[in-house]
Amino acid sequence: MSDDQKLKDPQNPSGPVTVRNMTFHVDRDLCIGAATCVAIAPNTYIMDSEAKAIILDTADNDTDDALLDAARGCPTAAIIVQDKDGHQIFPQ
Ligand code: SF4
Repeated sequence: MSDDQKLKDPQNPSGPVTVRNMTFHVDRDLCIGAATCVAIAPNTYIMDSEAKAIILDTADNDTDDALLDAARGCPTAAIIVQDKDGHQIFPQ
C-alpha cells in the first residue's frame, strides 16, 4: 500500500464498508489472495501484507457493476455483498 492510498475504514480494513447502496466485506478466512478483485475493481481492492484483500477509500470510483463483478469473480466467494437493508445480494 503506497502513502497516497487510504483505507475506507482503517479499523476494518477488509470491511464491512458501505459504497452507495451496498455494503462489502471480505471474509479474510476465505480470501486466498488470488487478486481477481483487484483486477476487476482496482479502485476498491488491494492486497495487504498477509495477501488478503482490503478496501480503499477510492471504492466509490468503481461502478456498482465493477463492485458486483469483483465479488462474482472471486474464486472463493470471499466478498460478501449486502443491500442497504442488510439483505445479502452475493453470494446467493
Ligand atoms: S478475488 Fe477473492 S480470494 Fe482473490 S484477493 Fe479478492 S477477495 Fe481474496
